[in-house]
Amino acid sequence: MPETLPSKADTGSDEYQSVLYLTGMTAGEMQTCLGYDQQYRAKQLYKWISGGAADFLLMNNLPKAEREKLKAMFGSVRSSTVSSELSDPDGSLKLQIRLRDGSAVECVLLEDIEGRKTACLSSQVGCPMGCRFCKTGQLGFLRNLGPDEILEQYHFLSERRGFISNVVFMGMGEPLLNLESVRKAILLLTDPEGIGMSHRKITISTSGIVPGIRKLADGGPQVRLAVSLTTARNDLRSELMPVNRSWALPELKDALLYYQEKTGERITLELALLGNRNTEMEDARALAAWMPPLKAQVNLIPWNKIPEMSFTEPDPTQLGTFAKILEDEGITVVTRFHRGRGVMGACGQLGDTLYADPGE
Ligand code: SF4
Repeated sequence: MPETLPSKADTGSDEYQSVLYLTGMTAGEMQTCLGYDQQYRAKQLYKWISGGAADFLLMNNLPKAEREKLKAMFGSVRSSTVSSELSDPDGSLKLQIRLRDGSAVECVLLEDIEGRKTACLSSQVGCPMGCRFCKTGQLGFLRNLGPDEILEQYHFLSERRGFISNVVFMGMGEPLLNLESVRKAILLLTDPEGIGMSHRKITISTSGIVPGIRKLADGGPQVRLAVSLTTARNDLRSELMPVNRSWALPELKDALLYYQEKTGERITLELALLGNRNTEMEDARALAAWMPPLKAQVNLIPWNKIPEMSFTEPDPTQLGTFAKILEDEGITVVTRFHRGRGVMGACGQLGDTLYADPGE
């Protein structure tokens, strides 16, 4: 178990990156920060930045002197830069982002067959959760991201690929251990005066941080919730996902029922299926027995190969049997495609390093 894995006593730091950068500010915060007397000036600036503008000097409805002042104060609009980018023939795009302290995260743009674009964003540099089948989990944990650093991933992807319809917090990190930054990022993503994305197009995916699920239920925002369940067998889950040693399946289920009672929302249960580990008929039956009365859809995610790991990809026949057992119980099952594999940008494959190459 990683030394930094949160315990029940330490319910995860909501450490908020207290220094605010422009891409993580509301129009009101910009007005205060920049000392503008007029609200409309802050709104003009906010419109530019939430629209993805990266250069103060091109903000042509601001007075030239103001543009130059901003340039002198901040240098560039964004605090991070793209240090590498990889495109997959299936349309996926993976970016490595160099953050202001030289650390690195990755984000991915996934495009489905209907052309819908989903941005998969990171919330932490590395991840403390140590899920055994996840590449990020083997890197360790460096720090939480600020809201600006989350938003900038969105802007970098959007300026390369255009309109993004969905956002999922499924990149590097456990979003419910950085809830305040994630909340602020969602506030900015959904602001009708800015990006204007619907809350229903945003998903937070957690490994099962029970206090975080309860906080989300109590304080919002009301977005879609996905839980990386992996298996409904408690011992096996503790082996594959150390989080289960802190919050075991019964506690997790109580928290999910609480979330559902508060929000009325259906939950998505994600299962990374590992060949011969959690794909037997008894695994499917254990899941079908565990779920009621949860209202949930099950996403089956055939494990994406990571060369340095000894797990194997699941057998397609076994996968079909697994899905059928659940469907026969009236459970909605979706098998997710392997998008982004060619750039190691698929689920569980993110994170080559915690630091970007300073030369790039
Ligand atoms: S699966 Fe998610 S929570 Fe688990 S180690 Fe990977 S990034 Fe962290």
